[in-house]
Amino acid sequence: MERFIRQTILPQLGVEGQRRLGVSRVLVAGCGALGTHTAEALLRAGVRKIILVDRDLVEVHNLHRVSLFTLEDVGRPKAEVAAEKLKTIEPEAEIISYIAHLDPELAEELVPKVDLVVDGLDNLETRYLLNDACVKHEKPWIYTAVLATYGMTMPIIPGKGPCLRCLFPNPPAPGTVPTCAQAGILGPVPKALAAIQAATAIALLVESPDVRPGELLYLDLWQRRVQVVQVQRGKNCPTCVARDFQFLREASRSATLCGDAVQILPRRKEKLDLFGLKQRLSALGRAEVRNGLLFAEIEGVSFTVFPDGRALIKGVSDPNRAQSLYDQFIAR
Ligand SMILES: [Zn+2]
Repeated sequence: MERFIRQTILPQLGVEGQRRLGVSRVLVAGCGALGTHTAEALLRAGVRKIILVDRDLVEVHNLHRVSLFTLEDVGRPKAEVAAEKLKTIEPEAEIISYIAHLDPELAEELVPKVDLVVDGLDNLETRYLLNDACVKHEKPWIYTAVLATYGMTMPIIPGKGPCLRCLFPNPPAPGTVPTCAQAGILGPVPKALAAIQAATAIALLVESPDVRPGELLYLDLWQRRVQVVQVQRGKNCPTCVARDFQFLREASRSATLCGDAVQILPRRKEKLDLFGLKQRLSALGRAEVRNGLLFAEIEGVSFTVFPDGRALIKGVSDPNRAQSLYDQFIAR
């Protein structure tokens, strides 16, 4: 308990609050700057079970904003690196990492197992899916997003306030919302939003009456501006009023990611023979298997293929073109 003495003397937490943190389970969806800084803050606060999910690899352009990643982690799965680093902070904690795309199946499996979900995602599509899963299973979650010099965050408590779809009723058309790759991201921004997200998470886990569901906080670090607005519950919200969880039903197979790559999911999950695939692709260009992943470069397009058949394709911006390259080179 000595480790947490500066925290337990806070009247908002106390010894009982600390005990609650110690038995809490949190799902961190996405292990970029937002997710890893939130996970680290919660672990240091005393949360002892953390599930990490991320589909991407550490890239050199992540390093300006992610404290847990260093140069030698480049090329390794973010979730795996984050779990390793977090373990060195608290070896006793149970930290489980999933190197996977958060699809409907995985969301339905993981969300019921935790007390709270925090947002470290880089795309709205997966957030709608997470919102569906959290509302369906009545789990609180915190929406948090960052771009350029600003970010916003809102606690969502199903049944006690608005959900993400009350705030944004419909997903924007693909390609209409700028990503971090296009608009950039100021390094301290995800850290600041992660700190607010972590504080809200702690308050939610100790069931503090000070959490106001649906209170959206907007913060611009460059302009030093903070705005707080209360979001109202949508009278006809398809998710939290009609309980129609459409994002859990339909999964799109391609998504444009923050790092300028297009992700393609396999038609069905099966373990790929990466070495066999490498043999075939070597005839068309460069191909190698490293750290359990296949890297290939064919006609100026680069492919990173995961053992479950998922692929990240760089060098094409059109998801349909990426899909056709996948079908041409990866799918049998
Ligand atoms: Zn709603």
